[in-house]
Amino acid sequence: MTKAITPGSSIGIIGGGQLGRMMIHAASRMGYKSVVFCDKKESPAYHVANHSITASYEDQDALKRFAELSDVVTFEFENIPHKTVQLLEKWTLVRPNWEALHISQNRLREKDFVKALGIGTVKYKRITNLESLTSSVKEIGIPSLLKTTELGYDGKGQFVIKTFSELENIWKKFSAPEGIVEQLVPFKMELSVVAARGSTGEYKPFAPVQNIHKDGILDTTIAPAEISQSLIQRALEISQNIMDQLNYVGILAVEMFVTQEDQILVNEIAPRPHNSGHWTLDACCTNQFEQHIRAICGLPLGDPTWHTKAVMKNLIGIEVNNWKSYLAHSSVKLHLYGKDDCKPGRKMGHVTELIISSKKSPLRD
Ligand code: AMP
Repeated sequence: MTKAITPGSSIGIIGGGQLGRMMIHAASRMGYKSVVFCDKKESPAYHVANHSITASYEDQDALKRFAELSDVVTFEFENIPHKTVQLLEKWTLVRPNWEALHISQNRLREKDFVKALGIGTVKYKRITNLESLTSSVKEIGIPSLLKTTELGYDGKGQFVIKTFSELENIWKKFSAPEGIVEQLVPFKMELSVVAARGSTGEYKPFAPVQNIHKDGILDTTIAPAEISQSLIQRALEISQNIMDQLNYVGILAVEMFVTQEDQILVNEIAPRPHNSGHWTLDACCTNQFEQHIRAICGLPLGDPTWHTKAVMKNLIGIEVNNWKSYLAHSSVKLHLYGKDDCKPGRKMGHVTELIISSKKSPLRD
């Protein structure tokens, strides 16, 4: 068994986005140092890290230096070559493991993995050309969705298919060599389970939450989700099953659809703290970032219980300009990520409303 990485040690984070930034806030509060490795110069996590290395994810010398500075390495986004993580595993402790990253990086691999565990997924087919696209859409039915298998997130690289006549046009616009066609599910609700698994296999989930997406991007999280005990139980069993199978250490999120018949279908897994877990910063005994740090450092996990119900709203693109108006509400907590460049669809910050009274609410009313 690996011994615990204790406060005073240094945590290496691959990726420089807001998730890395919030991991560092938690790590720093617990007395850890941090080093960020990112291929971009301007990164929100750099503002709060002790050290940063800007280099390509394939730069072996820079990775070696990063490993030497890090007692444990983790990652805050999925679009890193898995070979980078395999290489780092030779030099230092990496959590979660590269296999979890590798599975989550490809929608086909991810769905095959989930299905093999006996967990429900949407109907899906791999496609590589117009012929396989046409036959897959015939088999799956209309409406369906065409997605890239890799590198798409927040609805990027996705096409809704409503008629057969548009297939040729869609295929022309689709730039990847391989794709996945999915049934467009008329779901009742979207849920996610964000959970931690410790280095000894201990499993601690946060309460399942309801997620509302706009244009493929998470807009609002309602925590906890108002669903039956039986659904809660099944959602948690799915999350634990996935984490156990991956021998996972850290925080992992599972995004799910609840069908009209109350069936749960897994849409995606994310091997890291997740946007739908941001409410835990203000409403839970231990938040997802602290829990991730505890898990990867081999410390006992904290208590994930919520003390207050909450609604989290992302501030996307120019919505961030409303930041000041939220300050007028005593039960709303503002989180901004320090990004200078405000682009449509870019997550600039979020607000969490703690549901502590029946007063008029800026996020619900
Ligand atoms: P994804 O990029 O797969 O996370 O998709 C982003 C969002 O698009 C999801 O959270 C859903 O709101 C919607 N979506 C994705 N796939 C499907 C599907 N097969 N059926 C219905 N909605 C979907």
